[in-house]
Amino acid sequence: MSPHSDRTRLISSATRRGQGRRPVNPPIERASTMLSDRAETMRDDADGPTYGLDGGSAARQLRAALADLEGAADAFIVPSGLAAVTVPLLALTRPGDEVITSDAIYGPSRRFLARYQAARGVTTRFLPADTDAAGLIAALGDRTRLVLMESPASLTFEMIDVAAVASACRNRGVLTVIDNTWGAGLAFKPLAYGVDVSIQALTKYVSGHSDVLMGGIAASVPACLRAVADTIEDLGWHVSPDDAWLALRGLRTLPLRYGEQGRSGLIVAEWLQARPEVARVLYPPLPGAVGHDLWTRDFTGAASLMGVVLKGGHTAAACAFLDALSLFGMGYSWGGFESLITHETHQMAYRDHPPILEGELIRLHIGLEDPADLIADLEHGFAAFRAALTLP
Ligand SMILES: *Cc1c(COP(=O)(O)O)cnc(C)c1O
Repeated sequence: MSPHSDRTRLISSATRRGQGRRPVNPPIERASTMLSDRAETMRDDADGPTYGLDGGSAARQLRAALADLEGAADAFIVPSGLAAVTVPLLALTRPGDEVITSDAIYGPSRRFLARYQAARGVTTRFLPADTDAAGLIAALGDRTRLVLMESPASLTFEMIDVAAVASACRNRGVLTVIDNTWGAGLAFKPLAYGVDVSIQALTKYVSGHSDVLMGGIAASVPACLRAVADTIEDLGWHVSPDDAWLALRGLRTLPLRYGEQGRSGLIVAEWLQARPEVARVLYPPLPGAVGHDLWTRDFTGAASLMGVVLKGGHTAAACAFLDALSLFGMGYSWGGFESLITHETHQMAYRDHPPILEGELIRLHIGLEDPADLIADLEHGFAAFRAALTLP
């Protein structure tokens, strides 16, 4: 491995010498059919892909850069972040197996486990979101084949001791998969902590501009790599060359955007924590927040996505808060250059063990705007929230 840091390697992989005259970025090769000169070599992939499904230059360079970033032997790309969750779950479980995960897992991942996997005969146990590593390890059973982690988890941002879970699972022959979208392959390196498969929604920080849907799957264990490759081939997943090119372009500037947004995220989180309308800020990088110790131990940076529990309120007051903002876009997803806000209270109803919250739950994604302007915008939101609370 190169002695250089992540931010250098993400760039130097584009400028490596000895490749002849070429553009900095790969060409976008739109192809289903690939032509050969001789019948004998038609099926020989030593000269490059033999069919469009195998992926072109941008896809190959993106996969190599992702594998390097995650410290993995190989990485795959699939058409959405959700597909990056479902592919390893399909590849690594068989009917009769059990999966253990958190109640706070990303909602569509829960739906896949509860609907599709259940119909396949793969059962799932959703442990309370605040279950720690010891509790999760104690829950492993004879049929447990795989543990799916997400740390911090979706919407309520609980952290888990990933190294402790991964090592206990490995000792018992249980596979571990982590959704590392919040860490973006940059601030947290799951494979170095003993996790078998690290996935992320490249849709978020890697693409970084809210214009691409894609998932990445990184692993080093040969049996896992083979099973994931076979499943992608069996299902026929393919990422378009234009999308692969955009994600590769985003990846070059990931550390800059992620670092800046994380710094702004902390500024906004600290301001929010001091507000009288806020009960709790769910953001492990914030000193005093739940999960701060594990985040400090394991992470080298912070994403800019956080939960905010308001003090009391109701749906109409939460909506008044969102409606009063002008700089925060109202929309799903995160990791782009723009700040976003969503109202999430109703999502808690889908959990097996809904958490007890002091009030309405909202989610903030902090973008690349000036944090002082974002804070001023949030002040307008709080004024509208207070006004909605005093209405009859
Ligand atoms: C958004 C998201 C995904 C799915 O990504 P899509 O590209 O939208 O399918 C998976 N996991 C987490 C934690 C996410 O936030």
